[in-house]
Amino acid sequence: MSIIVAGAPGAGKTTVLNEAKKIDKKIRIHGAWEYILDEAKKQKIKTSHDTIRKLPRETWIQLQERAFEEIKHKSEMPLIDTHLAILSENGYFPGLPENVLKIIQPKLIILLEADPKDILARRKKDKTRQRSDFGGSTKILEQQDINRAYAATCSNKTNALVKIIVNREGKAKEAAKELIETIKSVKNT
Ligand code: ATP
Ligand code: MG
Repeated sequence: MSIIVAGAPGAGKTTVLNEAKKIDKKIRIHGAWEYILDEAKKQKIKTSHDTIRKLPRETWIQLQERAFEEIKHKSEMPLIDTHLAILSENGYFPGLPENVLKIIQPKLIILLEADPKDILARRKKDKTRQRSDFGGSTKILEQQDINRAYAATCSNKTNALVKIIVNREGKAKEAAKELIETIKSVKNT
């Protein structure tokens, strides 16, 4: 089984998870994109975090499946930083399609959300990445809506719990505390 942390690009998943690690040193995070990029490297496919979504679908699907197989063996309940809905030029595709759900069997899906205007500003400010901000905050609102739809679908298929945590501006530590409490409580059930 696994625990998923998802949310729109720039919502603050990696930031909040890093804050969580500072509070609880035992936490280990598995960034799905790093595993997917490693798999691409093994297969000598040239790509990057910000361009990988443009690969042909069949290439993407096999990289994704191998990456999650790898993560599954990392621990009893890996904590995975990933996306539920990935925006391509031709529409959204699933970050956790059925074949992946069968591999990682999520017990809990945490959806990290924030005010779309804050996410837009975070994307613009973060020069370490080149996230698309096409469509502005209206598009981010759509991305957060679609994430909820994908989360509900995953929950229906796997019985996973879905928890929404808001990552308020300047309050990543508070979101991290809520995340830790939720994980602790779900692990004990
Ligand atoms: P991606 O899905 O693209 O990996 P992400 O959800 O992991 O994105 P982060 O990289 O964690 O997003 O955060 C994006 C930017 O927003 C970073 O510059 C980070 O410092 C900033 N940020 C994250 N959370 C907050 C917050 N609560 N308040 C202010 N800035 C934040
Ligand atoms: Mg991230």
